[in-house]
Amino acid sequence: TQTEIDKFKGFWRLFKLGVPIDRDPGKDFLDISDALLQEVAKVLEFPVASMLPPEAFTVLRKSFDARKSQKEPKFVYTVEMDVDKLLNLEPRTWDFISRLEPKIGLIEHTPHEKIVGDLVNVIQDKKKTDQYTLPDQNGHSGSPNSSNSRSTKKSKVAIVGSGPAGLFACLVLAEFGVDVTLIERGQAVEKRGRDIGALVVRRILQTESNFCFGEGGAGTWSDGKLVTRIGRNSGSVLSVMKTLVRFGAPESILVDGKPHLGTDRLIPLLRNFRQHLQDLGVNIRFGTRVDDLIVENGDVVGVNVSDSSGRLQFSSEKLGFDAVVLAVGHSARDVYQMLLSHNTELVPKDFAIGLRVEHPQELINMIQVGNVYQYSKLANEVRSGRGKIPVADYKVVQYVKGQENDVSQQRSCYSFCMCPGGQVVVTSIDPSELCINGMSFSRRASKWANAALAVTVSPNDFNALGFHGPLSGVQFQREFEQRAAKMGGGNFVVPVQIVKDFMDNKLSETNLPSSSYRLGVKAANLHDLFPVHITDALQNSIMAFDQELPGFISSDALLHGVETRTSSPVQIPRNPDTFESTSLRGLYPVGEGAGYAGGIVSAAVDGMYAGFALAKRLDLYEGDI
Ligand code: FAD
Repeated sequence: TQTEIDKFKGFWRLFKLGVPIDRDPGKDFLDISDALLQEVAKVLEFPVASMLPPEAFTVLRKSFDARKSQKEPKFVYTVEMDVDKLLNLEPRTWDFISRLEPKIGLIEHTPHEKIVGDLVNVIQDKKKTDQYTLPDQNGHSGSPNSSNSRSTKKSKVAIVGSGPAGLFACLVLAEFGVDVTLIERGQAVEKRGRDIGALVVRRILQTESNFCFGEGGAGTWSDGKLVTRIGRNSGSVLSVMKTLVRFGAPESILVDGKPHLGTDRLIPLLRNFRQHLQDLGVNIRFGTRVDDLIVENGDVVGVNVSDSSGRLQFSSEKLGFDAVVLAVGHSARDVYQMLLSHNTELVPKDFAIGLRVEHPQELINMIQVGNVYQYSKLANEVRSGRGKIPVADYKVVQYVKGQENDVSQQRSCYSFCMCPGGQVVVTSIDPSELCINGMSFSRRASKWANAALAVTVSPNDFNALGFHGPLSGVQFQREFEQRAAKMGGGNFVVPVQIVKDFMDNKLSETNLPSSSYRLGVKAANLHDLFPVHITDALQNSIMAFDQELPGFISSDALLHGVETRTSSPVQIPRNPDTFESTSLRGLYPVGEGAGYAGGIVSAAVDGMYAGFALAKRLDLYEGDI
């Protein structure tokens, strides 16, 4: 009866619903297909799948499973069922609802749906529900129940850096009606694209517009992986994802188990993001670098900026603000130095360094999804990046016990920022230093697969090389970047070694496999790069990775040096609730450079929360963050 059914109401999640490749409708179909409905019916023990109303079901997650332990490769879905929408069925078919019971990992009951929207909608809703009034055109605002004497002046905030952290902080504050200036030392994506082209083709490095600096931050010319270690289903991550969809990302990122954009999709997305911010009245200043903070009595009251492009009509300028959000990423080493000059607290932190390994993508496909190659049509699909099956990737990790003389008791070595179908790129911002990373386009159709193999390092390692103090981690990075530049012989040429030769500690003399890196490679013994315990950790881990992914140690695989900027070597301590620096009032350090994020999504989430915290501080709303 209806009353009995009531206790089953709400939302049920059904996990591990497998659909074979040939019955799956493909990447861009996000509704419930007939094949998936049949799997749902099986789990629900409902006799006629076609009688189930598709509108009662929503796909939450889809991933591809080609593990060799599977009888056949398949897509695996998580689906949400809304019991209310089943009640249009005839009552005599309701039986299966009363048989529902939670089963760990297979079926879950959540009585209430958590509706999460994109940030623009979320803030519009908050404005309606919270005690909130928008500042009027003259900047006058007032809260009906706030006893605080609210400023009658519209608050002015500077956001320094237009990476994911800066952009999301900017969006939140601008939506709340704050007078925001977004200051970015690099160029807008159109000009930045030309600067990166000149670097990759003609070796001309623009020190202020490159793979690290410019609109969208370090993540623009990247692989655009949107995976994060923050709970994938958390409201904050979903809100960021939906905001990206609002600005042009495909909806599939909302359900894809391993969402990915690629540089070609990120560029138009950033243009739409910029347009929206400008429509909200944000003053965006590209080619403008913050050189210093203006501090009065321990309060940050503004910034000194200069023309970093050399083309604007000013040399330097003082700008006054009520608060400064610092979202500069971790390659802005000059900013760390500047912060020290104001006695800002900076703490060295653990990060990881290593090498970038590149295999032929075909080899990784064979290792990972070799069993789909028995269907030749599918093999071609995998190769072209156009079919249903995602290009194969991998993720490996190994814990390594500290050896004799190793300053660390234990390290881990793991694959990081794996770019299937991608290319190795130079992320140096100074020609005397060499560091690399990986990027890809949305189809991931290049013939190479690259990933960093990174070993964890801590302040003990920095001290062991004679580096001490808050920026010891930066000095440590720089040391290996300079060594790598010398080993390559300069001009951004990257030192390389065949994986097999690295294992045998011998120079790769002939027959270097081709590399996707465009500025040239030079054979070198990469054992000469790092302290011996880091090289040992890499060697031991590669041995273990080869057990997991047979063929990983190959004469076709090439190690490239050096990968140093896996995450920030510094943290800028801040109050966890207000996001304000613990040593400088009015400064809000956020994102990767402040040591609170590692990756596009986590940086965006951090920027978003900082935006809410600051809006709350400015008395613009009183709800939860
Ligand atoms: P950033 O993105 O570094 O942005 C900081 C911005 O501040 C920059 O635009 C910089 O120009 C600006 N700035 C710095 N100093 C100043 C100043 N003094 N004045 C004005 N502006 C300033 N992460 C993923 O999650 N997935 C990936 O696939 C991925 N691939 C990557 C590929 C590459 C090649 C690189 C380099 C990084 C990749 N990352 C990836 C990491 C990711 O890009 C970063 O984690 C993320 O961009 C950090 O965001 P952020 O906003 O904190 O800082």
